[in-house]
Amino acid sequence: MPRYEITIEKDACDGIFACLTRDPRFVEAPDGLATIDPDADPVYDCDGEVSDDGERVVAAFDDDRLEEARRAAAACPTDAIIVEEVDE
Ligand code: SF4
Repeated sequence: MPRYEITIEKDACDGIFACLTRDPRFVEAPDGLATIDPDADPVYDCDGEVSDDGERVVAAFDDDRLEEARRAAAACPTDAIIVEEVDE
């Protein structure tokens, strides 16, 4: 399985939520911007680590859903989402 990180740059996010319809791990945070909640997925058990330092949300996953994350990134009109494979 690839290990990958999803980053949301909060400055760039404008709350359009095109990402949510591509990958249900993306959810609306209390601040009205996108964040990532591994438990939000209604279909899959998902296990990831999420950090939010106020400027960006970084979530690390180790599963077969890299393409879903990439679709969410491609759908984001402001390019706020970055998806990168990372080494073990
Ligand atoms: S699609 Fe992009 S701009 Fe819209 S909520 Fe998701 S991350 Fe933010």
